Order: sequence, then C-alpha cells, then structure tokens
Amino acid sequence: MASNKKVSCSFCGRSQSAIESQNGGPLLFGIEGAICGSCIQNGYEIIHEADVKSGDSTSKQQFELVKPKDLKAYLDEYVIGQEEAKRHLSVAVYNHYKRLMQPASVDDVKIEKSNILMVGETGTGKTYLARTLAQKLQVPFCIADATVITEAGYVGEDVETILTRLLQAANYDVEKAECGIVFIDEIDKIARKSDNPSITRDVSGEGVQQALLKLLEGSIVNVPPQGGRKHPDQKMIAVNTENILFICGGAFDGIDRHISKRLNARPIGFSGDDTFHDSFEKDQIMKYVSAQDLKSFGLIPELLGRLPVVTFLNPLDAKALLSILTEPKNALVKQYEKLFSMEGVTLHFSPEALSYIVEQAMQYKLGARGLRSIMEAIMTDAMFEIPSQTEIKDFTIDLDYAKAKFERTVFHQMKVVA
Ligand code: ADP
Repeated sequence: MASNKKVSCSFCGRSQSAIESQNGGPLLFGIEGAICGSCIQNGYEIIHEADVKSGDSTSKQQFELVKPKDLKAYLDEYVIGQEEAKRHLSVAVYNHYKRLMQPASVDDVKIEKSNILMVGETGTGKTYLARTLAQKLQVPFCIADATVITEAGYVGEDVETILTRLLQAANYDVEKAECGIVFIDEIDKIARKSDNPSITRDVSGEGVQQALLKLLEGSIVNVPPQGGRKHPDQKMIAVNTENILFICGGAFDGIDRHISKRLNARPIGFSGDDTFHDSFEKDQIMKYVSAQDLKSFGLIPELLGRLPVVTFLNPLDAKALLSILTEPKNALVKQYEKLFSMEGVTLHFSPEALSYIVEQAMQYKLGARGLRSIMEAIMTDAMFEIPSQTEIKDFTIDLDYAKAKFERTVFHQMKVVA
C-alpha cells in the first residue's frame, strides 16, 4: 500500500507533492519503491536512443511477408486476367521483401533485386496492378511518369524528382523510402528516337534512359525534398536506391513488328512455314516479347540489364471488358449501384446495355480506360435527376436508355467526327 512507503520517486527523489506541483505525471508504486511520470519518460527516451544507435531499433522496418500466392489472390480480387503479369509481380515483390530481410553478409550470397518491365497496351491495367499492389504493401510506393523527365539542365523534371515522390510517400523517413517501390509509367516514350545519332540532342529519350540508370543500378542519389527546380536553395536528401524496387510500364506501340521480325529470323520446325507470325494474332505474339525486342524498340541495353523481369499484359477483349464492368471488388457497376443505393434507389443494368457499353469501349481502343468515361456519359443525367425524385425506388439502364444518353454526348460526337 502506498501509505506504508516513502512517498517519493526512487529515481529522481522528488516528493509526491513536488512531482504534482511540477506536473511530473503520476507516481507509480512498486514493491520496493516508486517511479514518477517524468522518470518513465526519460527512461523510454534513453532506451530508444540506444536502440537507434546500435541499429537494433524497434522502429526498424518490420515486414509482414505476403506469399506470392496470397499477393496474386489479392490482385485477382481487383484486376481481371493478366495472369502472367500478376505472377511476375507477386514473385518480384515477395523476393523484394525477402531481400530486405536478408541478414547482412552472413555468407557471400547476396540476393539482387529484380526490377520489372511491364509491356501492354494502354488501359490494360499496368498502373492499376501497381496501384492495387500498393494497397496491399506496407512499403512506401509512388507512381512517376517518364514523359515529364528530361536530361538534367533541360526543360522538364530531373530523374531525382521521382524519388521526391517516394520520400513524400514515406513521410520523409529516408530509411523507409529506401525500401520502397517505384512505378515508372510510359517508359516506352523515352525510347531512343532512331539508331542514327542525330544532330539535335535526344534530351527526353536516350539521355533520360542514361539518367534513369543511375536510379535503377543502386547508388546514392541527392533528392530535392520539395521536388522540381523551383526551390534551388533546398537542402538535398541523400537516398540510397540499392533496395528500391522499380517497376516500369509502357505500351510499346509497334513492338509486335520487332517481335515477329525476330521470330521470323529463326527457322521454325520442318513445316516450311516461314511466315511464322502470320498465323498469330498481335496479342498472341506479344507474349514472346524479350529484351532483344525492347532493344530494337529503342531502350538501351544498360537499362534493360537493370530490368531483368519482362512481362506482358494482354489486350482486353469484349469478354474481359464485360468482366471488368461487373466482377472486380470495386467494379464500375458496383460503384454506381452503391451511389444509387445511398439515395434509396436500386439500380439495374440490362445485359444489353452492358454489352453496348463494352462495344463502345472496344471502338475507342482505350482498353478499360474508356469504360469509365462511357459510363459517366450515360449516367450523368440520372445522377442529376434522381436525388430530387424521392418517389423513384428502382431505376434500370436498358439498351435504349444507354444508347439515347450516349449518342447525345460530346464524347460520341467526337467519334463520329473522327
Ligand atoms: P494502363 O495499362 O494504361 O496503365 P490503367 O491501369 O491505368 O491502364 O487502367 C485504367 C483503368 O482501367 C484502371 O483504373 C482500372 O479501373 C481499369 N482496368 C484496366 N485494366 C483492368 C483489368 N485488367 N482489370 C480490372 N480493371 C482494369
């Protein structure tokens, strides 16, 4: 009981009344003595500081190792198809975690990182896959666009600004950012323009690839914490990119020609069929994409060497687009149904209306990206009217409604003009 003990802190010696008057927190009694709030706080700080210095910090990154199958199962909930890419991404991310957890120099085997290159038409889910991964991961993650980057000294952004975003995602915790994942989109747009060295410098092409190498190959990079070139006085933050996983994505429009050319160069079996690629659809041929094709497309070998995993995404056919509309966890149809149910209205889509939407999306050749704009064009009037019409409890989008609304939109008229 407190009444039997000396009523003072056994560590700082202050009496209970002094502690109370100096706002030193509660006085806690143990068997042999007591400790005040201030001494608990001081003790915590001493231990924490010692941990940080010895590198044995409890704040050191702790990762929950998500197995590749579980990672893929998570991606399956949101992303339709793209099996190959999902498997590659799941394995690469799993290995990335393992790499981060490998004990320092126990033996000579050092796991190297496997940066990834995803090849796939626009709107097939490259960014979406990366974003979905980000939801699941406990490492900082950012998306950067290769098209805005130029060689240092030219109008545009320096490659280092890619890491500014990662630092921001990590709340400027450098240690955390150094274990992060970066998705670089539109990497195909920085392909070398032609094989002939031209008189004008290729500042947004090969020059950027060279600059990117610096990030990808693992080095200490000075990153402007505010990004851009608007703050010339800012103090740079040194970031080691050795443990950062880079995932690059691009449409590589026309790469199928490089693939079929390469495949044709080899004699195929005994069939005497020297037009190997003719019997393949474009999407079939994409699965043979290799570093060699990417090199003939205009990526420099050094960069390709830093992107050892190359995977492809299938173009989305009508069946896949229909599934995308209705099946994933946050499918567009489910999103609109939710919006309407919040108004107390049950929303239905007829199968013919859904097929019509898919048909339109196929015509725009924007992959799944077109679905959202088409849906929005069809749904806007209903979303405008229904909240004020409380008597409506059920609303159906049938083929006639979808057609009538869509054909009146600027979106549709643009297609007619084109
Ligand atoms: P890109 O391949 O050009 O990076 P995105 O990933 O940005 O394409 O796709 C645009 C949108 O289309 C995504 O936000 C997502 O809603 C949808 N989408 C694309 N592909 C798929 C897919 N395979 N499964 C589900 N949704 C998809």
